[in-house]
Amino acid sequence: MTFKSFNPPQRILMGPGPSDVSARVLSALSRPTIGHLDPLFINMMDEVKTLLQYAFQTKNEFTIALSAPGSAGMEACFVNLVEAGDKVIVCRNGVFGERMIENVTRIGAEAIVVDSPWGRAVEIDKVAAALNDHPDAKFLAFVHAETSTGAVSDAQALCKLAQEHECLTIVDAVTSLGGIELKVDEWGIDAIYSGTQKCMSCVPGISPISFSPKAVEVVQNRKTKIQSWFLDQTLVMGYWSGKGKRSYHHTAPVNSLYALHEALIMLHDEGLENSWARHREQHEVLAKGLKELGIEFIVPKEERLPQLNAIYIPDGADDAKVRNYLLEHYNLEIGAGLGAFAGKAWRIGLMGHGAKSENVALCLSALKDALNQ
Ligand SMILES: *Cc1c(COP(=O)(O)O)cnc(C)c1O
Repeated sequence: MTFKSFNPPQRILMGPGPSDVSARVLSALSRPTIGHLDPLFINMMDEVKTLLQYAFQTKNEFTIALSAPGSAGMEACFVNLVEAGDKVIVCRNGVFGERMIENVTRIGAEAIVVDSPWGRAVEIDKVAAALNDHPDAKFLAFVHAETSTGAVSDAQALCKLAQEHECLTIVDAVTSLGGIELKVDEWGIDAIYSGTQKCMSCVPGISPISFSPKAVEVVQNRKTKIQSWFLDQTLVMGYWSGKGKRSYHHTAPVNSLYALHEALIMLHDEGLENSWARHREQHEVLAKGLKELGIEFIVPKEERLPQLNAIYIPDGADDAKVRNYLLEHYNLEIGAGLGAFAGKAWRIGLMGHGAKSENVALCLSALKDALNQ
């Protein structure tokens, strides 16, 4: 048997992630691998940390790139902060809120679930009521940008509520980081995780996370040992900490971190506010074009994510056939519906490098063609 090298086609990725990775980031990825404890590499890691602090808008000392995908970032936040028996208020308005509940219950903690309709923002009043009903709740967890439905929640208002009840916040920013306004310090977020393959337009497999000093204190004052050795951030803190000596914890994904470093420089050069504005502008052009095609959004206008456009599949269109047609004829990938929206929705991503007019124009004309077929 012989095997050939794998040569994927050049797709245009307009789904829920991964998003298109720029040539500049891909080229960083292919630079020579060096040791992960090489002083030059450690310098670069320090820059990654500083650039992540910029992206998150935080001064949190504990801001790192976890060597695993966004789901591991989620798990890291929960297993480090939450202990068995703790009460956690979890907002569920899509697939990722559901996963948060799973994380809480596996720890042996109690999840107080606040349900909001799929395709809508988390309902603030319901969260306020849950906080009133459960004064002993220690954490409030929610998804800022629900990629499964395309809805954004008011993270700032939710954090304010949590603070009024002396609850720490755990926030999923996998799809929001770099794509919409996100201000960790100003809003008072305590633990946050993201992913590299959405609006950062980097390769998948890394999860930027950041803990506030208060969150770090909670982690350091736990009564019980953190159940996961790999995700135990008290061990990783030494690996990523300050200028001093690094101790070996695990081997960092060296080349992927080159890529993240490059992607973060690009975000820094563009400027966060400009990146947010670009996502918004491209979304508006796309929304206008979709309207002309008679396609309806799932999420009401003021709760829509610019980077993830969830739309109803038009009557008479075959979900899989259309998506396959786009892939075959245009090398264009859009996302299928997830969870409650499986078979009912498409998800068009305008993430990071992919949020540009060429992509919007291509997507609209390809979709029009596919629907005519
Ligand atoms: C993609 C995503 C995740 C999971 O990230 P992975 O890198 O796929 O593990 C978590 N939360 C949200 C909101 C996401 O969009």
